[in-house]
Amino acid sequence: MATIFTKIINGEIPSYKVAEDENFIAFLDINPNAKGHTLCVPKQEVDKLFDLDENTYLELMKFSRKVAEALKKTVPCKRIGMAVIGLEVPHVHVHLIPLNTMSEMTFTNKISMSSEALTTLSEEIRKQLSQTV
Ligand code: 5GP
Repeated sequence: MATIFTKIINGEIPSYKVAEDENFIAFLDINPNAKGHTLCVPKQEVDKLFDLDENTYLELMKFSRKVAEALKKTVPCKRIGMAVIGLEVPHVHVHLIPLNTMSEMTFTNKISMSSEALTTLSEEIRKQLSQTV
């Protein structure tokens, strides 16, 4: 059965998309640890990060860095944290989280954001990415 992220990739369910190319997509996490929490996902449906072929793994890191740079310019924070977990969704994804405190990396403290706020934020990150050379 297709993962929830494959359904997002195929446009079967909506997302607050921030970036997409031929092989990867990035969208805002629906239950964020902090404002700007973004997931970077390979379109290829593989469960575990280290099972990706080497090229896809390296390209995912390149894609994630580009998104992280745009995120850092959009959301005020000390730095962008990165994590790979996958206990909930068995489809590789890199969590990018704008951090001001360590507790934002715990995945237990969540923030609430309205649909309007998520839409606006995804637009701001997309705009920032479009200005990246
Ligand atoms: P993990 O698999 O790394 O433990 O966590 C999965 C992450 O995906 C969680 O942070 C969760 O909030 C997020 N998530 C789960 N379902 C959806 C969804 O349908 N849309 C979005 N945007 N994020 C989701």
